[in-house]
Amino acid sequence: MNALEVVQIEVGLIQNFCEVIGCPVTGEAALVDPAFEVDRLLRAATQRGWTVTTILLTHTHDDHIAGLDEAVQQTGAVVRCHPVEVEVARAQAPQVRAARDREDVLIGQGRVQALYTPGHMPGCICWYLPETGAVVTGDVLFVGSIGGVKYPQSDPEAMHHSLQRVLGALPEETRVYPGHDYGKTPTSTLAWEFVHNPALQVDDAAAFRKLYG
Ligand SMILES: [Zn+2]
Ligand SMILES: [Zn+2]
Repeated sequence: MNALEVVQIEVGLIQNFCEVIGCPVTGEAALVDPAFEVDRLLRAATQRGWTVTTILLTHTHDDHIAGLDEAVQQTGAVVRCHPVEVEVARAQAPQVRAARDREDVLIGQGRVQALYTPGHMPGCICWYLPETGAVVTGDVLFVGSIGGVKYPQSDPEAMHHSLQRVLGALPEETRVYPGHDYGKTPTSTLAWEFVHNPALQVDDAAAFRKLYG
């Protein structure tokens, strides 16, 4: 597997980050969470000679999929998401396929692995690029903070597990691409987060629920 390239683009009015992920060999590309300013996202791909064939969703909150129908119309891409998010995605896109936990979604000669990371919402996926050493974390992990776990469908204990056991199991030098620009820097590393992010300092799931639930 070859390393994929990641381009981070801030869009919209609530500091959403989208990513364009491309294979430098074949030019096949994926968009993550096309919500706003879809024209800008597609231009970023075109400028690099990339063709968007896949759309990856971290979850289906509106600020992550508001531009999904437009992105699908422009590209004809296949949407990949968590099984519980398929129905919401299908309202906007004709081709939606659930991704299994740990499934490798191929983008040209590279791969993006689906990591189920429930907590913020039951259908949250972090998209991991092993050869690049990057993970797109959506509303699970921000630079210096985490996504909210106070929605009716949120599950603080599951969030604790997702942060500590799923993201915590990745190599510490892995670069974090969050779903919003809420930190001091647009990206960080897991090593930095596990030292500086207060939400990652809570060892125990019950204590985590008290603090964040
Ligand atoms: Zn969200
Ligand atoms: Zn969000």
